[in-house]
Amino acid sequence: MEKEAASAPVILHGSTASSGFAVGTIWLVTHRDLDIPSDRIPEEDVESQLQKASQVLRRIENQLRELQDTQRDREILEILDAQVQIIKDPELYNRVRQLIEEEQRSAEYALFRAFNEFIQLLRQTGQEWVKDRIIDLQSLRDKIIQQISGSDALQSLARGSIIFAEELSPTEVIEFSELEISAIVMQHGGTTSHSVIIAQSLGIPCVVGVNWRRSQLDGVDLAAIDAGRGEVIINPDGQMLSDFRGRREEAEAVDKNLIRISRLPSRTSCGSVFHLRANIEFEEELLRVRNYRAEGIGLLRTETLFLRQGYFDVKQHVLFYRNVLSGTGGHTVTVRLLDVGGDKLPGKRLEEPNPFLGWRGIRMLLDEEKLLNDQIEAILTVASEFPDRIRILMPMVSNVSEIIEVKRRIAGVRDRLNREGIPAPEIPAGIMIEVPSIAIQAADAAGAADFFSIGSNDLTQYVLAADRGNERVSGQFSATHPAVWKLIRTSYEAAEEAGIPISICGEMAGKPLLAAALLGMGINDLSMNPASIPFVKQLLCNYEIKIFKELLESILKAADGKGADAGIADWQKKYIN
Ligand code: PEP
Ligand code: MG
Repeated sequence: MEKEAASAPVILHGSTASSGFAVGTIWLVTHRDLDIPSDRIPEEDVESQLQKASQVLRRIENQLRELQDTQRDREILEILDAQVQIIKDPELYNRVRQLIEEEQRSAEYALFRAFNEFIQLLRQTGQEWVKDRIIDLQSLRDKIIQQISGSDALQSLARGSIIFAEELSPTEVIEFSELEISAIVMQHGGTTSHSVIIAQSLGIPCVVGVNWRRSQLDGVDLAAIDAGRGEVIINPDGQMLSDFRGRREEAEAVDKNLIRISRLPSRTSCGSVFHLRANIEFEEELLRVRNYRAEGIGLLRTETLFLRQGYFDVKQHVLFYRNVLSGTGGHTVTVRLLDVGGDKLPGKRLEEPNPFLGWRGIRMLLDEEKLLNDQIEAILTVASEFPDRIRILMPMVSNVSEIIEVKRRIAGVRDRLNREGIPAPEIPAGIMIEVPSIAIQAADAAGAADFFSIGSNDLTQYVLAADRGNERVSGQFSATHPAVWKLIRTSYEAAEEAGIPISICGEMAGKPLLAAALLGMGINDLSMNPASIPFVKQLLCNYEIKIFKELLESILKAADGKGADAGIADWQKKYIN
């Protein structure tokens, strides 16, 4: 390992957890190195140590409640509440009392040890989800020790400081944000950890996985962070700072605007509410999902994980769904059943003359009993951990009987799991509206499905008989064709009549003008590539539903796709430019 002179700039890299720029004084979080003396106390001090322990617990509880009063974010409130529950846990206090009374230890040591035992117990479970809980407990423990020993170092923290820590707990992030720090650099912590989610929610630039060493910070005052690039400069020189300022100004103008728009309430200027959700396929996309404030995942594609592994691994899928649910706040995640065809089924290489019209999606799954059952099992297993937050979506449905059969299979797997002692709740099971037959029969389908999600990509391809991947017919593949929109309207009316939710997850939802026309129809639940969210939101927030209805009419009354495009352009000239 090379050794840098104390004054030389050091450039380090990590992973972007929450983008943004900062230049500030370095603040090193070192309090995890606490060493608490374990000496016995005299018998006559037992009573006062008991009082000291309960006083500090009460004080911390009050501080957490005060912090709760300053927060609005539901996720932050839940985290703070979980901490209050730990502080009030009677088992924890009983152990502290036992250590003071029976083993004659100081309040400080008793609390330290009781917390450590608690942490050790959690660690032994070996489960991934307890990791955040452990960091939280460590931070709570350290805070208690600091208060009890009267060494609250944070008092001297300057505004605008950059925090360098091995890892911070979610509560620490909240507390640091109250002290107006400008960025966080952590050695550990995944980009989906709770602390990172909080840093994103609070708009604090944050880089994780940065391998900084203490020696690099010795005698150094200043650091500069470009969190979007995962770049951390310790002790930047004048040239670096001026480059940095240029980059910062450029990126901030764009980013700030997108982030600002994402934070607007999802409401049109006339007060009509809509919901923007994300289509994703990889956990890496969750960062964007949160940055752009998507209200959960409207379409979780599951094909890549399956195809990469070459077989369906229930455990891997459980892990994947769990991570996605953990990374999306309290929002809903709609998991789509595998939408693969015979050509992509490991061990079954079928050469179909027309794969898009072939054995794919739900058709294949209904024939491959074990595969379907395995995926349902993975979804139901996770569903019990996240009540009311997960839905099943069936792809390529073309007959009502398929919906009934999939629901029968779901009930079968649920009964089996429950019999085996694995809790498996009832969850909504809906369908993609992407095959024309089911859109035409939407009223019947609405009697069998729990919700509709319009797959406008395939719907367009099948309605217009134009392969969505074939360049030669790209002129025919027109998402604005009125025939496509008439089928969307039929589906919307059927869903309304039956009282089931309807959303859209095809690409058209991410095109601002088409999203506006969909909202004009009444479809207010739109799922898209997360990067499209601010652009769609900007248009929807700035205008009234009334003019979106006009836009919709111009599409519906057009003769074909080209006519609809011309109508959209006229509308845009009239209202937007
Ligand atoms: C669609 O068809 O519109 C859709 C969202 O599904 P996919 O693009 O995965 O086929
Ligand atoms: Mg599709």
